[in-house]
Amino acid sequence: MTTTSDTTRYARIAVERGIDRYPDGLLYRIPIALDGVKGIGGVALGDHVTVPLGRSNSRVNGVVVGIGGDELLDKKFAVDQVKSILEIDRTSDPMPSVVVRLAQWIASYYCAPIGVTIAGITPSAVRKGVGRIQKIAVDIATPPESATTKVGRLHPKRQAVLDAVALLPQSQRPVDIDELRAACSLGTRAPILALIKSGHLHVTHRTSVQAKWRASTIEEARAPEPTSDQSKMIESVGEALNLGFSQHLLFGVTGSGKTEVYLRLAARVLAAGRSVLYLVPEISLTPQTGGRIVARLPNDRMAILHSGLTAAQRHEQWIVASHTGPKIVIGARSAVFAPIADGELGLIIVDEEHDQSYKQDQAPRYHGRDVAIRRAQLSACPIILGSATPSLESWFNAKKRGISQLHQLPNRAPGLTTPRVEIVDFRKETVLRRDRRVHLVGPTLEVALRQGFAAGGQAIILLNRRGYANWIACPDQNCGWMMQCSHCEAGMVVHHDVGDGKTLKFTRCHHCHAEQKVPSRCPRCAKAVTIFGLGTQRVEEELERLFPDLAARGGIARVDSDSMTQASDFHETLGRFARGEIRLLLGTQMIAKGLDFPNVQVVGVISADTALNLPDFRASERTFQLVSQVSGRCGRSAQAGRAIIQTFQPDAEPILAAARQDFPGFAQRELEVRERYGLPPVHRLARVIIRHEQQSEAERIAEQVRGKLAGIPAAKSVIIRDPAPCPIARIADRWRFQIEILAQTPAKLQELLAAGRTLAILTPGEIMAVDVDPVALL
Ligand code: ADP
Ligand code: ZN
Ligand code: ZN
Repeated sequence: MTTTSDTTRYARIAVERGIDRYPDGLLYRIPIALDGVKGIGGVALGDHVTVPLGRSNSRVNGVVVGIGGDELLDKKFAVDQVKSILEIDRTSDPMPSVVVRLAQWIASYYCAPIGVTIAGITPSAVRKGVGRIQKIAVDIATPPESATTKVGRLHPKRQAVLDAVALLPQSQRPVDIDELRAACSLGTRAPILALIKSGHLHVTHRTSVQAKWRASTIEEARAPEPTSDQSKMIESVGEALNLGFSQHLLFGVTGSGKTEVYLRLAARVLAAGRSVLYLVPEISLTPQTGGRIVARLPNDRMAILHSGLTAAQRHEQWIVASHTGPKIVIGARSAVFAPIADGELGLIIVDEEHDQSYKQDQAPRYHGRDVAIRRAQLSACPIILGSATPSLESWFNAKKRGISQLHQLPNRAPGLTTPRVEIVDFRKETVLRRDRRVHLVGPTLEVALRQGFAAGGQAIILLNRRGYANWIACPDQNCGWMMQCSHCEAGMVVHHDVGDGKTLKFTRCHHCHAEQKVPSRCPRCAKAVTIFGLGTQRVEEELERLFPDLAARGGIARVDSDSMTQASDFHETLGRFARGEIRLLLGTQMIAKGLDFPNVQVVGVISADTALNLPDFRASERTFQLVSQVSGRCGRSAQAGRAIIQTFQPDAEPILAAARQDFPGFAQRELEVRERYGLPPVHRLARVIIRHEQQSEAERIAEQVRGKLAGIPAAKSVIIRDPAPCPIARIADRWRFQIEILAQTPAKLQELLAAGRTLAILTPGEIMAVDVDPVALL
């Protein structure tokens, strides 16, 4: 019996538990009591709701991702089986509909269950309502903000509130609305809220987070006069500001003043009454960059989202982002989902757009930059991608596909010098040493450091590997034993943990974090094991030996994820570096990007080979980026800067190109290689990874999936490679096989993936992961 009438309305709900058979969400009936057509305040897109799920009708949370009539009905369902929404959760703000649409796009493009996607893009502090902030501070809006402001007399009660605020001394403004309510003897907040709504009062949030970042601003920012190159870019994007979507690539060498361009454009957008979303890689959101932005833009309308926040602070910032009116939201990858209301966004900025940290490495495996482009399209506003070493994806889009406008800042900002990059052949360096130790800091770098320190300068040393040493092996080549993690197909890394004057030595797996003792003898032939290879801890030890006085004064600091367990540790260390207490900063890629310290005269790269030897088609690109970015940390004042790059492969093209600071040349040659081998960005790649405790089972499933995929009609226009073990064939006791899918266009790839999903061949979850546009191939 079907008793549907044309007035029954339905909603599609993304429930947190991922049931991927329904990528558009599950279907529910909207009960009359919750139907906005018949009553006020009914269910709307983006609302958080409670629905019954499964046979037991357990209550689960979900988000409304679609609303409609009979057209939502699935033919397979009997109408009377469709369950009803139970209630709307009014304590959580609804997701702006543009964010709902982004989530749907991610779920389909990146092959992720919609429930997992929605849950994955809402900070857990927000989902759980941690430290819900009810505090709102207000001030007189001059001029009144909203077009709805009516000229004429206000309700006397409201006028009294307005007068009360106007009478407050400047030092007491903005005023907390509950204090204001008490001061005006109001029973409720309603008159104040009405004044906010009518635009007479504006909401101000000077949060603790902003205060902290402001305090750590190294010097109060004065706006420099833009150079003619900067002005050209500002004008050109400025003209595009109100003309809908446009995509811009800012290719500006390190220290060319890209941030200045962003700040000026952001200020324009805010002045025009619209909002700005400003994305940065997690690690470069230091108090220095944060402080610089806070100091230059109206920070009562700013939300900052980064990993150093407590759950309550994160929630507070999220709420600031959801306020109406022009504002700027700054944050790492997940800030792309900030709840800026629909239609308010005027500009998106993605700084260091090439950075790998924009890609999320668990479902939903989205790329923050590409989601940002999508958001700009949905919001009809311009987007700027900026980098000194653009990703080949973005370069290709600008140079070959013409879908992005290219702007260039070819020179460093006034007052900066171009660093001299020297490549040092490490094979020749070590033999120069008189003692018989293996040195990681070669004589050229050592001399450069000594000269730099003598001249009062500071230095940055990069090695892209944590720990002490990454080879623990039998010295006997006939035996060939090498210590491996017992859960992964990967070598163990020796770590030294210094504490209480004692050094604890142990081995750790960098993939599953398992730890073991350092063996002294080979388990096969009982010979004493040798420990060799590279690690930041070993470099630190060597630098302390070379510069004992500096070390004794605390002038050397190591920055990697072992030494910096919290964002605040990193921020504190950078503060000491800025004040000159630390003279030598050594670390992993955490220190390679974004830092702007004028006194850095020497930069050293211990081994440019670590990135070059990765089994990944992007190894050259990574090496070029790393060498260019870290070299760019010096020469940020009138003093000359020297970058010393140690390598066993001094003729490697990416290293030579980085030393010449020739990105366009490098990119052109690299794109030719990618084209020849049908690789991204010329072609599109997706990876299906099968994980199973049994090796044979992982392989069998992979074979089966590949066979089924190959049988789909859409498979004819793509290449589906045979299953192969992943470069790291086992992680945390699970064997890993991959199927690579290559397509000439994103549409062809998407067609196959969509069909694979509909036919339940692609079922991302515990056993299978699907990674579309992957950036890491291990
Ligand atoms: P990028 O982001 O391109 O690496 P930054 O924006 O950090 O470069 O700028 C490098 C330095 O140059 C900063 O200290 C900045 O204040 C300064 N700077 C930027 N633009 C100008 C300018 N037009 N005149 C003088 N100094 C500038
Ligand atoms: Zn392991
Ligand atoms: Zn042995």
